[in-house]
Amino acid sequence: MSARTVLPSPTAAAPAAALHSRVLDWYAEAARDLPWRGHTSPWGVFVSEIMLQQTPVSRVEPVWREWLSRWPSPTDLAAAAPGDAVRAWGRLGYPRRALRLHAAATAMRDEHDGAVPSTEAGLLTLPGVGVYTAAAVAAFAFGERTTVVDTNVRRVLARSVQARQHAAPSLTRSELALAESLVPADPLTAATWNVAVMELGALVCTARGPRCDACPLAALCAWQQAGRPAYEGPPRRGQPWHGTDRQARGALLAVLRERTTPVPRAELAAVVPDESQRERCLDSLVSDGLVEPLARGRFRLPGTP
Ligand code: SF4
Repeated sequence: MSARTVLPSPTAAAPAAALHSRVLDWYAEAARDLPWRGHTSPWGVFVSEIMLQQTPVSRVEPVWREWLSRWPSPTDLAAAAPGDAVRAWGRLGYPRRALRLHAAATAMRDEHDGAVPSTEAGLLTLPGVGVYTAAAVAAFAFGERTTVVDTNVRRVLARSVQARQHAAPSLTRSELALAESLVPADPLTAATWNVAVMELGALVCTARGPRCDACPLAALCAWQQAGRPAYEGPPRRGQPWHGTDRQARGALLAVLRERTTPVPRAELAAVVPDESQRERCLDSLVSDGLVEPLARGRFRLPGTP
C-alpha cells in the first residue's frame, strides 16, 4: 500500500455495529476460561496484566497462580523483599516487571488503603503503570469504558479495518483514534469488546498464520477483500535473543534466583564467560535495581539474605 493510499474509516470498511456483533458473539463461544477473567480480585487482574505483557498465557498461568496464592493482596506483596518478587518471577522474562509490580503494590498499600485504584486515572498514578495497563485494569477489573490497545488489537484492526497485514512498528495517533472510535458506548459491552478483540488476535488473527476460515470477521475483513496485500511499512522489530545482553542478564539472574546466599562474581563467570558482557550486564542489573552488589564482589537479589 502506498503512502498516499487513503485508508478506510471504520464505518466505510464495515459498520462498527457489524464488527461488534460478530466479535462479541464469537467471544461468547470461543473465549478461553482463564483464571484472571471474571473469577478473581482486581489485584489478580492487575498482576495478570503486568505478567501478560510480551509473555504468552501458557507461561503466565502457573506463575500467576503461585503469586496470587503467596501474595493475595497488594499489601502482602508490599511486605515482601523486592528480591523475593524477582525470584518468584522465575523465567517469565523482562524481570523489571517484577519490581514494577512490587513498587505498584507498595504505592497501593501506602496511598490507596491497600486496594487497586478503581479508575484509569487512578491507576495511571501508580509507579510503572502505563497507558495500556491502566486502561486494561480499569476495563477488566472495574468495568470502566476505556480503550485497550495491545499488539493483538492493533493487528486485528490493521487487517480488518485498514487492509494492512501488520500495524506500524509503534502505536500511531490514527490507530488509537480508530480503536477509540470502535469502543461500544455501554461500559460493560466496551470491556467485553476490548477483551474479545484481544482474544481474536491471540487465537485467530495471529501474526504469522491468521486462520481466516475460522474468523468471525472473514466476510467483512478489509485485508481479505483487498487480496491480502503484503506489508509495505517500515521494517518490523525482531526479537533477537541468543548471545544478546538480554540473554546474559537472564542467565545471571537465574543463578541468583536459585541461591539463598550471596553469589561471588567468579561463579557468575560460568554462565556469562565474556567478561565485558558479564560486567556490562551486572552493571545494568544493579542500576535497574534487580541485583544488589555486596562487599567482596558478591551479589544477591535485592533485600534477600
Ligand atoms: S479474516 Fe483473517 S486477516 Fe481478517 S481479521 Fe479475520 S483472521 Fe484476521
